[in-house]
Amino acid sequence: MTTPYPKLLEPLDLGFMTLPNRVVMGSMHTGLEDLPWNNRKLAAYFAERAKGGVGLMITGGISVNRRGWLAPGGATMRSRLDVWQHRAVTEAVHAQGGRIVMQALNGGRYSYHPFSESASAVKSRINPFKPRAMSLRRVGQVVADYARAATLAREAGYDGVEIMGSEGYLLSQFLCPRVNHRTDAYGGDIRGRMRMSVEVVEAIRRAVGRDFLVVFRLSLLDLVEDGNTHDEIVATAKALEAAGIDVLNTGIGWHEARVPTIVTSVPRAAFRSVTAMVKRHLRIPVCASNRINTPEVAEDILASGDADLVSMARPLLADPHFVRKAAAGRADEINVCIACNQACLDHTFAYKRATCLVNPQACYETELIYAPPAVRRKVAVVGAGMAGLSAATVAAGRGHDVTLFEAEDDIGGQFNMAANIPGKEEFGETIRYFRRQLDLTGVTLRLGHRASMSELDSSFDAIVFATGVVPRQPAIPGIDHAKVIPYPDLLLRRRLAGPRVAVIGAGGIGIDAAEFLLADPSPPSVEDWCRAWGIDLEGRTPGGLVEPAHVAPRREVWLLQRKRGRMGKGPGKTTGWVHRAALLQHGVHMLDGVEYRRIDDEGLHIRRNGEDSVLPVDHVIICAGQVPRRDVVPLDAKGKLTDPRCHIIGGADVAAELDAKRAIRQGAELAARL
Ligand code: NAP
Ligand code: SF4
Repeated sequence: MTTPYPKLLEPLDLGFMTLPNRVVMGSMHTGLEDLPWNNRKLAAYFAERAKGGVGLMITGGISVNRRGWLAPGGATMRSRLDVWQHRAVTEAVHAQGGRIVMQALNGGRYSYHPFSESASAVKSRINPFKPRAMSLRRVGQVVADYARAATLAREAGYDGVEIMGSEGYLLSQFLCPRVNHRTDAYGGDIRGRMRMSVEVVEAIRRAVGRDFLVVFRLSLLDLVEDGNTHDEIVATAKALEAAGIDVLNTGIGWHEARVPTIVTSVPRAAFRSVTAMVKRHLRIPVCASNRINTPEVAEDILASGDADLVSMARPLLADPHFVRKAAAGRADEINVCIACNQACLDHTFAYKRATCLVNPQACYETELIYAPPAVRRKVAVVGAGMAGLSAATVAAGRGHDVTLFEAEDDIGGQFNMAANIPGKEEFGETIRYFRRQLDLTGVTLRLGHRASMSELDSSFDAIVFATGVVPRQPAIPGIDHAKVIPYPDLLLRRRLAGPRVAVIGAGGIGIDAAEFLLADPSPPSVEDWCRAWGIDLEGRTPGGLVEPAHVAPRREVWLLQRKRGRMGKGPGKTTGWVHRAALLQHGVHMLDGVEYRRIDDEGLHIRRNGEDSVLPVDHVIICAGQVPRRDVVPLDAKGKLTDPRCHIIGGADVAAELDAKRAIRQGAELAARL
């Protein structure tokens, strides 16, 4: 069979091992690693991805010693007990014909406890704990810890190890003058700074022999001040190759970088050229990473020779069967990662179990099971937003007879607005995915039809209301003035805003609206995006940073909220700072503690710090949250459902948490029980 992805599906012969294709599931901490009683869940998570055909998987970071663990109690590989625990994972993966390597990690100054250590005693801005500088003796011990971890990983059945030398962890800290201020053999010029990484590779190689995969993940672009130059990175890569690694995996940006590297507004495959620049100096295979989320993008990178392998962590969380679907000519069925970070990295940083916004089964493989039902039932789902689509497709996929009613002319609900926000175009992929799922699962779709309870009453065994929300209309004098635009009218391009705009409400949607008003409607090229964020892809500057280009604002925008405090706390930890930085770049006036007085021909009248003023705006966008839409839901006076066949999910259930992550999970969990 011919395939549009010949390079992606091409085996890679590593001498002692052949990978069946070029897809590597990059390391990602799920939170399941850290608690031994979650072993079975972790094994099922990896086994599902092995079944889905991925060429090679890399575990989340497993610490080689206690000082280097990311937080007390984190997963380690130090003893026979660890070996025994990890076997559950390797056996489950091998039973599915997969391959898995363990990532050996030392957090260095990113370790979140008072006993952390690093190249020098230089605190990171993202960790309150200052590390102590490692003595020469300690460096030797840590090198030995890596070798012991690799030996134990081999005993545990892993196919290899990945040495984590990027993202700003310990070995990156040694590699860069940013943290390495040493004057001994492990400091100074790049030959000294790379010494520890090279010794780790040599020690591991001595310990495990030739027929065990050794991958090194190296930062190709540190994106922090006092990072390495391109020449230093190439010199390090060549030394690692000489020391005996089999594959060079790559990383972009330290965790403390203030330049986005993986969020949805980062153009797809933005950093491939940097990988290509390093690859041309090496003989071993090189793996590209960051914002590669479809088989087309991956194939293009491989076919152009920019890399030999592609790393995808979040895309495999979103769809464990990514490779199998691509190989079977069913790429249109892939549930594409939209790079939102909301259920994966935001959970990880909050010490919660990771999952995926678009795939609630991720990391819940043993708990959220879509089994065939005992009795096939007729199910009505009212509303084709994220909650309704999730409920309808899971119920129909299990075998129920499902009809989905939608009052609008198309499916997607709030995601239609999200997909219109510049930098959030990926959200359209989820609508595409569900559209295909509706076909595949045989859901009867009735668009442009506002279903009523009387119509549904006699025909269905179960009725799911996923009717969504209506925007809240705040009681501000002049709210009916022609200057006022409710956010759906703006984001669905039903109305156009003038050059000066006030946005009332600075939650997730207020920030989206501000970005919509400011950004160019067409996505930027990689070059323009890099210029705006001050990224040097050509290897001219240490760390890859240059002065960001001045962005001429397209409009003058005021973003307002009543409460006092920092704006934009709503969006997650890994994305909120990117939005705030983008708004500052565009010169948005962010005002907290605002009292709205009235809207009239002059503009928006406000009081702040006891002083009255008028914002001379052409339009006022209302982003003041939502209330549930329940007009067709049969509720009693206390707001309880009156009919046991009825269920209510998504924003119609809890509008205050209008949130696609919750909506998709709630729809799937309900449909799994029906
Ligand atoms: P939200 O986060 O609840 O924010 C509503 C905003 O309106 C707040 O700034 C609030 O601040 C203001 N407000 C509330 N009542 C008001 C009133 N009566 N008059 C004037 N202002 C009022 O709601 P949202 O922005 O609509 O977002 C809804 C959900 O969508 C969020 O939970 C979020 O998770 C999700 N979302 C997330 C993203 C993302 O990027 N992660 C993007 C979009 C949406 P004050 O009360 O201080 O004025
Ligand atoms: Fe991708 Fe968002 Fe899922 Fe994370 S939560 S894997 S970023 S779609």
